[in-house]
Amino acid sequence: MKQKTPTDIAKVELALVVPVFNEEQTIELFVQHVHQVLADVEWQWNVLFVDDGSSDQTLTILKQIVERYPRVGYIALSRNFGKEVALSAGLLNARGEAAVPMDVDLQDPPELIMTFVQCWREAQVDMVYGVRTNRPEDTGAKRRSASWFYRLFNRITETPIPENAGDFRLIDRRMIEALRQLPERNRFMKGLYAWVGYTSLSVPYSRPARVAGDSKFNYWRLWNFALDGIFSFSTLPLRVWSYIGALIAGISFLYIIVIITQVIFFGRDAPGYASLMSAILFFGGMQLLSIGVLGEYVGRLFIESKQRPLYFVIDTSDDYVDIR
Ligand code: UDP
Ligand code: MG
Repeated sequence: MKQKTPTDIAKVELALVVPVFNEEQTIELFVQHVHQVLADVEWQWNVLFVDDGSSDQTLTILKQIVERYPRVGYIALSRNFGKEVALSAGLLNARGEAAVPMDVDLQDPPELIMTFVQCWREAQVDMVYGVRTNRPEDTGAKRRSASWFYRLFNRITETPIPENAGDFRLIDRRMIEALRQLPERNRFMKGLYAWVGYTSLSVPYSRPARVAGDSKFNYWRLWNFALDGIFSFSTLPLRVWSYIGALIAGISFLYIIVIITQVIFFGRDAPGYASLMSAILFFGGMQLLSIGVLGEYVGRLFIESKQRPLYFVIDTSDDYVDIR
């Protein structure tokens, strides 16, 4: 597929794709701010909100906003499917030559979109992604665990992801079409962007704190998110057991020879309870661990094998129908 971006910048349309989940406090601020920042740009733009099954006034507010701002539309999902699925729904339905996934809490500064567009046009790449140079809002522990995650992920997968790059990026039509063709239910978007390939460029930015409301990601959710990323992008945790097994079997074999030799030549009595227990506990633990890893993959196979649709749409603004 060749790039078909219009050369005339005035004809280029950009879709800001914004997943929202219980964000009644931030939507209005976001819409106002974006309209302010993008007031004088020479290209066209629109905003597509994806309501991820909010239980507060989010949808009501979205309905009011689309009345007041003609550039804004929404798609509401039938329940909370999680940010990755909401983002996928938005990207699948985004209109224009490029899409910019953004958080609604203004942690992804809209000012940077101009830089994204400029880099995209000048460098002729398919994706321009923001890299957080500092994350003042995050605790030291969160930053450290994020850094470990990136290091581990990149060591064990074939498609490394850039460190400290979130979803805030510009993705052009060619790449959106590629992402559309990935049918999996487990949508670790950062991994998917990397997997489809194409050309990209990074832009550093400093990530401010949330304008209002609270983060939807606690440690438990982040932990599961990390596991999802690793288990859906690498088979190393599965394969490594063959090597661990071979190593342990080798050592055990040598030890068996030692024991037999001792018994035959020196006539040893039934020896220690301690060594017996250690061996039983060690191997029991190893076996459970390996079954657990196997379970992670089997569980994911199970989910994927059902081939369920990624999401359902319960409502949209007048100008959108779910085109998936
Ligand atoms: N979000 C979503 N579905 C969810 C959780 C979050 O659509 O299940 C949206 C949320 O409304 C926000 C974005 O994803 O626009 C990022 O969420 P948040 O700011 O809570 O994440 P953090 O910045 O703390 O990582
Ligand atoms: Mg946030």
